[in-house]
Order: sequence, then C-alpha cells, then structure tokens
Amino acid sequence: MSKKLAMAPKQSKDMAGVDGKALVVAAASDVVTSSAIAASYNDQIRPLLDAVDRLRRLKVTQEGIQLPTIVVVGDQSSGKSSVLESLAGISLPRGQGICTRVPLVMRLQDDPSADSAKLQLEYSNGRVVTTSEAQVADAINAATAEIAGSGKGISDAPITLVVRKRGVPDLTLVDLPGITRVPVKGQPDDIYDQIARIIKEYIAPKESIILNVLSATVDFPTCESIRMSQQVDRTGERTLAVVTKADKAPEGLLEKVTMDEVNIGLGYVCVRNRIGEETYDQARVEEERLFKYHPLLSKIDESMVGIPVLAQRLMQIQSTIIAKCLPDIVKQINDRLSRNSAELDQMPPDLNNVADAVRVFFHIVKQVSASLEKLLVRGEFDEFPEDRNLHGTARIAEMMNGYLKRLPAQCPVDSNGDNLFLMEEVRVLEETKGINLPNFLPRSAFLVLLKKKVETVGHVPQDLVDEVWGYVEDVVVKILAKHSENFPQVQSSCRRAVQSLMDKARARSAQHVKELIEMELIADYTANPDYMKSWTEIMDCHEDFMEAVEDRSKPTSISLEVFGAVDVSHLREHVGLAGQAFDLRARLTAYWKSIVLRLVDGLALHVLRGVKRLVEHDLETELADELLGNKMAGVERMLSPSPSTGSKRERLKKSIVLLRQSKEVVANIMDRISASGEP
Ligand code: GDP
Ligand code: MG
Repeated sequence: MSKKLAMAPKQSKDMAGVDGKALVVAAASDVVTSSAIAASYNDQIRPLLDAVDRLRRLKVTQEGIQLPTIVVVGDQSSGKSSVLESLAGISLPRGQGICTRVPLVMRLQDDPSADSAKLQLEYSNGRVVTTSEAQVADAINAATAEIAGSGKGISDAPITLVVRKRGVPDLTLVDLPGITRVPVKGQPDDIYDQIARIIKEYIAPKESIILNVLSATVDFPTCESIRMSQQVDRTGERTLAVVTKADKAPEGLLEKVTMDEVNIGLGYVCVRNRIGEETYDQARVEEERLFKYHPLLSKIDESMVGIPVLAQRLMQIQSTIIAKCLPDIVKQINDRLSRNSAELDQMPPDLNNVADAVRVFFHIVKQVSASLEKLLVRGEFDEFPEDRNLHGTARIAEMMNGYLKRLPAQCPVDSNGDNLFLMEEVRVLEETKGINLPNFLPRSAFLVLLKKKVETVGHVPQDLVDEVWGYVEDVVVKILAKHSENFPQVQSSCRRAVQSLMDKARARSAQHVKELIEMELIADYTANPDYMKSWTEIMDCHEDFMEAVEDRSKPTSISLEVFGAVDVSHLREHVGLAGQAFDLRARLTAYWKSIVLRLVDGLALHVLRGVKRLVEHDLETELADELLGNKMAGVERMLSPSPSTGSKRERLKKSIVLLRQSKEVVANIMDRISASGEP
C-alpha cells in the first residue's frame, strides 16, 4: 500500500477533529461494521444531511452562504453520470457528446420502506415532478431542455433529483456538465468558458468536496478536470478521485493510483460502472468479480475499489464536512439576518396612500424640530458630537460676541473734521444757539450729535442678523436633508419652504433693527443709574478743564480722567461755548454705554426669540403649507418612491424571510449536536 494511501484515513480524521464532531464522524465511518452504529447514524447524521438539504432547497446559497457539497467534475465522457447512476442504482441519461447540460443535484436517501426507487424531480423555482426509474432519463432531459433550451446550450440553474430507495447511501452530490475543449457540433463557441465558469462556481468554495471522475483509459495529468480542481484546491485536501472504466484499461492502473501524480488528498477509488443493458445488480456483481479475480486489478487494495467503498467514503467525507461547516453556517445566517434586518429598518417605510405619507411627513417634521431645538435652543449636540458647525447655541453666542466687539465701546469721535478736542460739539452748539439764557444746554444740539453717532454704527446690527440667519438657514437645511434623505422627491419642496421661511425671518429682523435704531434716534432716555454716575465722574474734571481754557496763564495741555491728554488752545477762541461743549461730550459719552447695551441686549433677545419661534412653530407651519397645500401634491410625491428603494426593500424582505427559515432549520440541528456531542 502506498504511503499516500496509508495517510488518507489520517487526513480525514484530522478533518473530523475540527469542531470536535469526532463522535458524529466516527459514527459515519463505522456504519458498515455495526448496525448499532448504523442506527445512531440515522439519528445523528441524517438530521444534519436533512438540514443541509433543506438549506439547499431554500436556496440559502443565494445569500452568499456556501453549503458543504460534494461536486462531481470530470472531463466529458469520463463517466460522471455513470458513477452517479451506480451510487443511486438507477439509470441516468448517458451517452456520447454532452448530456449533462445543467447542474444536477442528486439527493440520495436510504428509505427502508421503498422496494423500488421513488424519484422526484425539482427545478425552476418549485416545479416538482414525480417520476419513475424507467422515465427518469426522459424527465431529466425534458427538464434540461426547459432550462437550457433544446439545443446543446448549458445553464447554471440546477435540477434536483431526489432518489428514495432502500440501501442507497445518504448522499447529496452535484453533477456538472463535463469539460470539453473542443465544442461538438451545435455547441456554442465559448462552451469551454461557460462550463469552466459553472464548474468554478461550484468547486471554488472551501465547503465543496471535489469528486474528480477520471477515466482509467486516460493519462491523469492531462485531464482538464484535474487542472481545474488544482486551481482551487492545490494540495488536494478536499479532492477525491474516482477512476472509472477500470475494466477497459487495467494495465498500469495500480501504479497510477498509488503513484498519485496529481495530488489527490482524499485518495482514489476505482470502479466499474454499468455497461450496456446490464441491470444495476448485475453491474455490482460484475464489478466485484472484476476486482477480486482480474490478474492486475485484484492487486489493488480492497479499500480502494468498488462502488460500495466509494459510497462509504463519500458518506464519511460528507458528514465530516457538514459537521465542520455547520457552526460557521449558523453564524453566517445569524450575521446576515441581523445585518439585513438592520438595513431594512434603516429603509424608508412602505407608503401605500396619502395618509401614510402624511404620517411620515409629520414624523420627519417632528424629528427635524426636535434636532433643531436641541442644537439651536437647548445647546445639546449629542446627535452630532463631531460636527462643530452644527453646535448652534455656541456658534450663535460667538456671533454675538463678535457683534459686541464691532460696536465701539466709546462714543465714536468724528474723524472727518480737524480732530480738535470738542470742536465738533462747539460747531453744533453754534448752529443751535437761540435767544435764551447762556447756561441752558440746547437739547437739539444733543440730539443732532446723538443722531450722527448712532448712524455710524447703524449697519452693525444688520450685519449681525444677516450672519445669524445665514447660519441658521444652513443648519436647518442640513438637518432637514438628513431627516428626509429617504425621500429625495420632496427635498426641493422642503428647501423651498425653508427659503421662504428664512426670507420672512430676515425681513422681521431687518424691521426690528430699523426700529431699534429709530428708537435710539428719536429719544434720549435711560433709566440706567450708570448714566448719571458716569456723567458726574466726567464732570468732576469740568472745573480743571475750564481753568485751562479761560486762564491764559495756565498751560493749554491738560490730562483729563476720561478723555486722556488733550490740548485746549483752540477752545480759547470759543470760551463762551467750551463749557457747554464739555458737558455735551460728557452726556454723550455716558449715554453711549446705554445705547450699546440696548443694541446688544435687544438684538440678542430678538434673535433668540426668532430662532425659537422658527424651530417651535414657523418651520412646521411652513413645511405643512408647502407639502400639504395644493391638495397634498407635495406629500403625494412621497408615494412614488425611487425605484431603487423599492427593489432594495423587496430584496431585503425576501432575504430576511429566507434567512429566518434557514435559521429555524439550523436551530433545531444545533440543539441536537450540542445535546449529543458537545460537553
Ligand atoms: P459523463 O459524460 O462523464 O457523464 O460520462 P457518462 O457517464 O455518460 O459515460 C460515458 C461513457 O462511458 C458511456 O458510454 C458509459 O457507458 C461509459 N462508461 C462509464 N463508466 C464505465 C465503466 O466503468 N466501464 C465501461 N466499460 N464503460 C463505462
Ligand atoms: Mg454526464
């Protein structure tokens, strides 16, 4: 016996060791020898096979979950169908040229109650046809023609053939179209590529066991099927070889299967299939005789010959791979199920009528209002911790600070004139003098100056409201877009509503600013005690100032508490008005603080109120007008979902149903496994 062959059983034990399903696998491998274990095989392996077959029938592979599968590959006419026939004990379409044109999933089930084979064909999404041994070949050909056309074309949509019969091995195998290098008459030119693609699709997953059918009449290294299986299974650890037509080429077969030139990790089994019109039973008798008495073939170890050995090997391998793969399959089903469910939850809800749409619309408005209230009013930004630009209260506060800085803290001095101390006041006083007592300060002089000063800062509040509303608009648009992202068809209406809303808010603010300024211009009033305090402080210097102006012996340079160092020489020409000019400046200076305070506080409160009103009331009204108005034309647009959303939802729903069913299938089975095998 070759070294390689001696190793083969060890290799399969290694596979069994993974996942600790040794118990299950041992049961499978010993099934021939002990009927007690055969019974436990039925208890333990059958449910696993059934589960995998049920998953296969559910088409869980469509979800990208690979099932443990024994895939039959071989060059054309190598004897694939004959091998399956031998395993199943029935006749399959056999012959020259291409017979297997679509993948054929053969599900063999030992059924002690079935004297003759019970056959059933399943294909094309749930078509089930009951057939008989005599008709199965025709039924398969008819189904093939239905799937792949009546010519010589091929398809990757499988047909499932269920065979229930006493004594057949419990196996599920997939027969694939044979590989041809040269298209036969009537086959498409790219037949090789087409077949190669289907074969790759089936043998590439690591869950697949490759049953490589080799004809004893050919040189193994020249086989296309060997080349292909080596591409996906270099070491051969999941490849088993069946050598057919042992009867036709007995010379050198022993050497071929013991030398193992082509890296078959799971070993070789040599067989002789049914020839001509032999019955299944005759074929088995002939096979046994052949390997027992043929001078060359009888030298091959009995663990490597005959269909019964092949059946046992396959069952053993199958239970091993299933036990190994199932835990991962369960995990994949669960992962995909929760991923798809989460994705479906994220999808926009189904909208069937206007009432649905209106409900969703109000939900969106509620979400938008809630987010905006948090960001712009309450200063909570847990929804957008990283997006600083959306942290509304902080950004608006910054704008307010900037605004305060842009308003001069000191009453601005006319920079257009000659910049001589108090000359602005003097000139105004000259123009407002009247026939009255000299020590009455004319109120009109104060108002004229006040107007001039206020006008120099008149644009600053307007700049602020522009800045604030520009920012708020930005935030509102972003939040709205976020919460309505599932309904792109209404976003332009929403933007229009926001636009008109912001226009109104801006207009209201502009009006408010205008009034603020106007109020400052028409009257000079404050109840702020700070005014009298500041004025008195400044007037404390009045006496020193008058002395510097009137007493020509004193220096004209004088340092004043509030105005700093000033020169008063020019005021000696206007001695009569200098005192009043100083007083005027003192009042303006003291009063200016009140003006700035009013402009800042008044505007800040106005802006905050405006934002609050927008968030709590106006936005909802405006959106409702835009979308519910005009006979609900706006929300009706929500009913025509983008086609991509619709088909995606359908796909997810289907997939979730499928995965739930799959989960049920495996849930039962995993309970059994842990009950029987695991600690
Ligand atoms: P496939 O194209 O791989 O499915 O090959 P088939 O199963 O259709 O077999 C091709 C031909 O080889 C048929 O005529 C079979 O009868 C013949 N054949 C298959 N296995 C054996 C065998 O073990 N011995 C002999 N003598 N002929 C076989
Ligand atoms: Mg075939």
